[in-house]
Amino acid sequence: MPRPLCATIHLDSMQHNLARARACAPQSKAWAVVKANAYGHGLERGMKGFVLADGLALIETDNALRLRELGWIKPILLLEGIFDVSDVPLLAEHNINSTVHCIEQIKMLEYTQLYRPIDVHLKMNTGMNRLGFRPDEYAAAYKRLRAIPGVRHITHMTHFANADELEHPRLAISEQVRRFRAGVEGLAGERSLSNSAGVLHQEVLAQELENDWVRPGIMLYGGTPGGGRTAQDFGLRPTMTLSSEIIAIQQLVAGDTVGYGSRFEAGGPMQVGVVACGYADGYPRHAPHGTPVIVDGVRTSVVGRVSMDMMTVDLTPVRNARVGSKVTLWGDGLPIDEVASAAGTIGYELMCALAPRVRVSEGRMGTHG
Ligand SMILES: *Cc1c(COP(=O)(O)O)cnc(C)c1O
Repeated sequence: MPRPLCATIHLDSMQHNLARARACAPQSKAWAVVKANAYGHGLERGMKGFVLADGLALIETDNALRLRELGWIKPILLLEGIFDVSDVPLLAEHNINSTVHCIEQIKMLEYTQLYRPIDVHLKMNTGMNRLGFRPDEYAAAYKRLRAIPGVRHITHMTHFANADELEHPRLAISEQVRRFRAGVEGLAGERSLSNSAGVLHQEVLAQELENDWVRPGIMLYGGTPGGGRTAQDFGLRPTMTLSSEIIAIQQLVAGDTVGYGSRFEAGGPMQVGVVACGYADGYPRHAPHGTPVIVDGVRTSVVGRVSMDMMTVDLTPVRNARVGSKVTLWGDGLPIDEVASAAGTIGYELMCALAPRVRVSEGRMGTHG
């Protein structure tokens, strides 16, 4: 018997969420973002789930090549571009679009003779201050890139710092859009602005966010970028259900403590269940007492400290709990955002941290465990 811990990936939910993204931005083409192993779902599953996307975008050059090996023939975009001049020939050879965010990358393209034209996304730094050319340097970067014979289409791109909050006091989306528009004025080419947060605001900010391409990530995996509204509010479905089983039950009396650090102390007689799942599986070690979990269909909570291979849960509300009872850590019936928020993090981090030792299968919602 394998360990009962399993991540079930719902390809049908991935398709559904992509359709939601398209409905939010019907005028745009969509890059489905599959970086970080498709946010922990597996690159190949990302490709299958988002087969209807116009392109796949990611960070890792080796995984871009892997997508070609797996038979993906539509566009691929490297969101951080290339890391070394030796990567340039791969772009032409495998028809991979590259982001260009700094002068060093332009030099790499100038230096290498491209035997087949490539398409690039030129990135503008409109206030995020991670990657890109400042609006006042942007036209010069564009001209220098335009002069390279092997460069075909140049798409203008920027990234929002606060798209999850419509009117952020420090840097509003509308301010980033204003800077972007000023920077690209008079330059030919398509435009790419929105991540998930931008896509989900499209209904409110349709005019401002109008663009040729959107780049949704987290929403395609049934998570939200933050900002208060839930995945359900946006009509998004969970794409990963992490489930396991109770492997032991302990009967406690008043004063008994549980686990490392004896952090939890029973106030009276109670039952705790031991779940086969720990931080070495990607469950957040910082999940405090009260973090939600579902046992036998009943919502209850984590007690005591999460350890490497196990965690303990309160069985008080679970009537017929036994060894073998099904446990849902997140996903179907328990939004990952709720678990993340209880643990002081975001759904992104939980998905991406799913450990390689966790068995992964594919199935529709309701069929896991
Ligand atoms: C990761 C990433 C996205 C997707 O962001 P989400 O918040 O997951 O939607 C979009 N654009 C770029 C450049 C990214 O790096």
